[in-house]
Amino acid sequence: MASKLAAECIFCKIIKGEIPSIKIAETASNFAFFDIGPLSEGHALVIPKYHAEKMHEIPDEYLADALPLAKKIAKALNLDNYNILQNNGKLAHQEVPHVHFHVIPKPNKEEGLV
Ligand code: 5GP
Ligand code: ZN
Repeated sequence: MASKLAAECIFCKIIKGEIPSIKIAETASNFAFFDIGPLSEGHALVIPKYHAEKMHEIPDEYLADALPLAKKIAKALNLDNYNILQNNGKLAHQEVPHVHFHVIPKPNKEEGLV
């Protein structure tokens, strides 16, 4: 699958390996890695290998396995409680202008995980 990546985008640079990240998994069209500022332990991001700021700008073939990859991460991390979050635009709290899906664990504090 051909990739359309942008030269100045930090997430495109992470896909290309030009900025280091802790990689979790990769498919032909998506890349998953741990968030640098985790809201909880295990906070992960899934990003299509196609540069676009908002989800409606991404071709379907790049979105097709984004959620299956998020699902694999949730299963691999054995998550029981978690949020999938995807922000579009500044008013919706998007900071990085490259489409990304958050996988945010909600640990059971009574078990002392966080
Ligand atoms: P947003 O608010 O745009 O939905 O979320 C962007 C996320 O990207 C934030 O949770 C932030 O911590 C994460 N982030 C920003 N820059 C980097 C980076 O260089 N590396 C990694 N791993 N995560 C980043
Ligand atoms: Zn990008």
